[in-house]
Amino acid sequence: MNKKIKLIVGARSSLFLPFADLGLIVVDEEHDQSYKQDEGIIYNARDMAILRAKQLNVACILSSATPSVETFENIVSKKFNRASLNERFHGTRLPNISCIDMRNAEKETNSFLPIELIHDIKKTKEKNEQSLLFLNRRGYSPLSICGNCGVRVDCPNCDAWLILHKNISKYKCHHCGYTEKSERECKNCQSSDKIIQTGLGIEKIDEEVNRLFPEMSRIVFSSDYLQSSSAISSALKQIKENKVDIIIGTQLISKGHNFPNLTYVGILDADFGLDVTDIRASERTFQILNQVSGRAGRVKQDSNVKIMTHMPDHPLLKSLIKNHREEFYETELTIRNSTHMPPFARLVAIIISSKNSGILQEYSQKLADINNFPKNIELFGPVEAPISRLRKYHRRRFLIRGSKNSNVQFYIKRWLGLLKLPPQIRITIDVDPQNFL
Ligand SMILES: [Zn+2]
Ligand SMILES: [Zn+2]
Repeated sequence: MNKKIKLIVGARSSLFLPFADLGLIVVDEEHDQSYKQDEGIIYNARDMAILRAKQLNVACILSSATPSVETFENIVSKKFNRASLNERFHGTRLPNISCIDMRNAEKETNSFLPIELIHDIKKTKEKNEQSLLFLNRRGYSPLSICGNCGVRVDCPNCDAWLILHKNISKYKCHHCGYTEKSERECKNCQSSDKIIQTGLGIEKIDEEVNRLFPEMSRIVFSSDYLQSSSAISSALKQIKENKVDIIIGTQLISKGHNFPNLTYVGILDADFGLDVTDIRASERTFQILNQVSGRAGRVKQDSNVKIMTHMPDHPLLKSLIKNHREEFYETELTIRNSTHMPPFARLVAIIISSKNSGILQEYSQKLADINNFPKNIELFGPVEAPISRLRKYHRRRFLIRGSKNSNVQFYIKRWLGLLKLPPQIRITIDVDPQNFL
């Protein structure tokens, strides 16, 4: 407040500090979803920063290599100015990006990894350089089923599968944190030793890499393995000092780190976000794939990125391979415009939850019946949420879509105000939702 401090580096809450004479706000990695707080008061700190800068009449810089579609639209419509950095920090060339078509990729017997990838890892090691294998899936495998009766291993609190984590010998729910020990019998048929693990998780990759390259050193870079900031810094140090040959990482690895010896990136499953209905899925996938690819060749030349996919002709992957970012954004804006989705419309999600499913059902139906929105605001729902039960609460969702300049919040308040809220019901209002679970 007394102007002794000239620069403040802060998280979301720093926007609310009592500045004496604020002159500039920089929002780094502006596209990052973590600017959106998804619990408690739901707001997007990026938008708050823009608002704050506007009120104070000072500049606001949003920086990103993969801006959000909203920001790109603000550039196209000339609301924001754009400054481009056209060269990489060390002046290196961008990595060569190509796909490995998993529909017909050759595999060695007994291995689920394509021969091309195995060969690339060997070649990289021969040059004394590092490889990164990226898979955005924590744990050993995403699905565990009883081989005797076919019933899946579920969380008792949520409508979700439990994920096996071999490093702690436990099953874990990624939504509520519930755990149980991994030596368990099937809760349906009581048979033991018959639970089958299906699908790939990061621990399974680690196991396979160990089997194929026992002589190479490796590290698993995932929040389950690196739980403290000191564990993360020591892992980063080992990587930078070239003491690690293979890094096996989740999204945790994609953020801003600079690994001078890393020249090869294998993206093990690029299909996770290409075929889903969530309107932001392709934007997020594009951002993650770009960031992970960008880890390669930041200091050394001649780096390679290989993307394993069953959809090599997907437009998103094509723009990524050609490094035609604009093309991706333009396509995405065309789709959003023609389907009346943000940034061309406003969305608000209303999540209603209760431990009592009967009361939930009744209350949400009553809300649907008293729809009193004006013509330019549409009400969809209620529908069962994709995660229909979370931490023992049953959940139903409404989606409200308004034209760009409509005062959606006002009408939502008016609508919800018509009905008395039963004590067993919780309501969450999520403006500009980033996820639809
Ligand atoms: Zn069973
Ligand atoms: Zn759970």
